[in-house]
Amino acid sequence: MTARSDVPCRACGCAGVMPILKLGKTPLANALRRREQLDQPEAAYDLTLVFCPRCSLVQIDVTVPPEELFSDYPYFSSFSDTMVQHARELATCLIAQRKLGATSLVIEPASNDGYLLQHYRDAGVPVLGIEPAGNIAKVAQEKGVRTLNAFFSADLADKLAGEGSRADVIHAHNVLAHVADLNGFVAGVATLLKPDGVFVLEAPYVRDMVDRVEFDTIYHEHLCYFSLTALQRLFARHGLHAIHVEHVPIHGGTLQVHAAKQGEADATVTALLAEEHRAGLDAPAYYSDFARRVEELKQKLVEMLTQLKAGGASLAAYGASAKGSTLLNYAGIGRGLLDFVVDRSTYKQGLFTPGTHLPILPPEALMERKPGYVLLLTWNFAEEILRQQTAYRQQGGRFIVPVPEPRVL
Ligand SMILES: [Zn+2]
Repeated sequence: MTARSDVPCRACGCAGVMPILKLGKTPLANALRRREQLDQPEAAYDLTLVFCPRCSLVQIDVTVPPEELFSDYPYFSSFSDTMVQHARELATCLIAQRKLGATSLVIEPASNDGYLLQHYRDAGVPVLGIEPAGNIAKVAQEKGVRTLNAFFSADLADKLAGEGSRADVIHAHNVLAHVADLNGFVAGVATLLKPDGVFVLEAPYVRDMVDRVEFDTIYHEHLCYFSLTALQRLFARHGLHAIHVEHVPIHGGTLQVHAAKQGEADATVTALLAEEHRAGLDAPAYYSDFARRVEELKQKLVEMLTQLKAGGASLAAYGASAKGSTLLNYAGIGRGLLDFVVDRSTYKQGLFTPGTHLPILPPEALMERKPGYVLLLTWNFAEEILRQQTAYRQQGGRFIVPVPEPRVL
């Protein structure tokens, strides 16, 4: 961690960010391939994780232009039962807590297919979704969730505020980490938020990533890996501060931060800030052996799969996800070891994984082809998937979970 990257910090502009982990050149994790593209060259970009010693933000130092990332982005939140249930509970809680009604407004940048806003709409609370992917915005509109097909930015926020839009609640779930212009995004939130409004942010927690070796959550779309410390410093530049924080067990460990312009922080905020400082998340030493632990995990996993294959077992994978792409490409696990990958999303079936070119089949393929072992790439939905795959497991099929260390279930 002595070398310095020549790219400044995304949040504070500090020139001295320090490399933590180099994953090499990998293809874009969501750039699924069509059959006719398999012989064509595939773009690959460096993937290096760095730490900012000034504001503590963990981030990658390459920004791929967003237009290369978001066109026809094939992720639909509603394909996951876990996400739908979490969204329903959160909306219900905020409606009661903030006493939202017909004169309120809830805004969500990156509103996806309306999986969250639909619960407000059903309760009679006006909503505005802002979704950059045209095909996904269309799905939300068809469901009757008011959605703009646009990128959220400070400029868009100014325009909406100029038209009289002011939000009681602004949600940003799994989006801030994907935004290149962090300060512009948070400035836009501050512009649109009523003086007594609340900004609810969810993002994967950097501490869970490091402690549980969840390195596969690193990919080019995922630019930042937040601690509350780093978020608090980012918020402060825009007149916001955390008032409440929860550590939610979704996506391998998520921070849910409630921020506002006014009001005291409750004990959860002071406790977590103190705990992060105690654990050292605001200093480089905490991150110093992450790269070694990632390399060890890779070696163990490849060894396990290679031995199973040598013993005559057939192997497949579950989840053509972004994290799966990072894991397979970094570990060099491709068609030599795995026969295919299954995914529940009909938008991915029939396509091939980036870099490794595994065919993507529907989950039913597990019962039809009966591979001996299935590498669970979407381990963040393990419980849900294991439940759905009871039949496959009952006839002898086994799942392998790769993190925090490879193990057969
Ligand atoms: Zn910084």
